[in-house]
Amino acid sequence: MVEICVVGAGIVGLSTATLLQESLPHAKVTIIAEKFTTETTSDGAAGIFRPGIAFRGPNLEITKQWLNDAYVYFNDILKSTESDQAGIKDISGYIISSKYPTSVRNEFLEAILPDYRPCTEEELQMCPGNWQYGSHFTTLVVDCRRHLPWLTKKFESQGGVIIEQKVNSFEELSNYDLVCNCSGFGARELCGDTLVTPIRGQVFKVSAPWIKEFFYADYDTYIIPGFESVTLGGCRGFDSWNEELCKHDAAAIWERCVSLLPSLKDAKVIREWVGWRPYRPFVRVESEVMTFPSGKTIQVVHNYGHGGYGVMSAPGTSIHAVKIAKEILTPNAKL
Ligand SMILES: Cc1cc2nc3c(=O)[nH]c(=O)nc-3n(C[C@H](O)[C@H](O)[C@H](O)COP(=O)(O)OP(=O)(O)OC[C@H]3O[C@@H](n4cnc5c(N)ncnc54)[C@H](O)[C@@H]3O)c2cc1C
Repeated sequence: MVEICVVGAGIVGLSTATLLQESLPHAKVTIIAEKFTTETTSDGAAGIFRPGIAFRGPNLEITKQWLNDAYVYFNDILKSTESDQAGIKDISGYIISSKYPTSVRNEFLEAILPDYRPCTEEELQMCPGNWQYGSHFTTLVVDCRRHLPWLTKKFESQGGVIIEQKVNSFEELSNYDLVCNCSGFGARELCGDTLVTPIRGQVFKVSAPWIKEFFYADYDTYIIPGFESVTLGGCRGFDSWNEELCKHDAAAIWERCVSLLPSLKDAKVIREWVGWRPYRPFVRVESEVMTFPSGKTIQVVHNYGHGGYGVMSAPGTSIHAVKIAKEILTPNAKL
């Protein structure tokens, strides 16, 4: 029996592991990870399907393919009876700017979503402020508080094995036929990949059930309703290695969000959270053959470096990683 190890149990690792099981039903798939569910970066993300236009894989064509595949994957779950358990819902909302017309356009979403359109004059006046430009669209939200447990259950029910352990070197995994590396920010150390850089983010999770739409505005301001809470953000600290909550960031986020939607002043804070977006200039999905001084060799398929867009893009990059894995393990299947 073919044995595959997936390193990482964030959304990228769990998506890859379950897709591997579906694509290679006779393989035994094991997940090895140091941290799970609420301890991962995936857990705190708002999970909205809205890629930044600088999001990139190896080229634009592959990037568009990933995004399209991810949207189709989530949309299929949305249409199923499991959408609530899986933490996926559709959501409409606005991106508005007082100064920057191009910031409210998104060529990826305009190609994927059926209703990406400019805001009307009335809509631009909905929020206090001098809003000049805006777009309205309906997209998806993937709430990892539900989605990660849902994927874990699916993985285990399909015979998957989970091991809690830190991997210090890929050589430790040389008994597997193939390793999928979905270690997020951990890839910086595990692969010695210094292109992986933290982009620090801080958010509030609040109870404000009256907020039904999402809002993005200038200066990294966003308000995104999920299932159990509304995420208020944010900030982007490039190469900032601070894991602690910052009271100045908190005050700025609160002020910007409440001035955009004044009813938020009555919201109850559930928690505050800091996370590091695992940024890499180009998300890495590719295979590598590693040979160690001991003479051992290992086949690795990398799938990491999703930055601020790893929740929404995980199924797309994972479908690609699984295709590479299948070509390695069953080379004649493509003939
Ligand atoms: C404030 C904020 C808001 C965000 N909002 C959004 C959003 O709205 N939409 C969106 O799509 N994305 C968003 N993101 C980005 C998203 O959270 C990440 O891109 C995504 O979670 C990355 O997933 P991952 O599985 O690669 O990493 P992680 O969730 O960090 O998982 C990595 C896994 O690898 C394991 N691991 C690492 N190294 C090792 C090792 N050596 N040995 C064993 N295990 C190891 C870890 O323990 C963990 O299980 C946001 C991020 C932040 C910080």
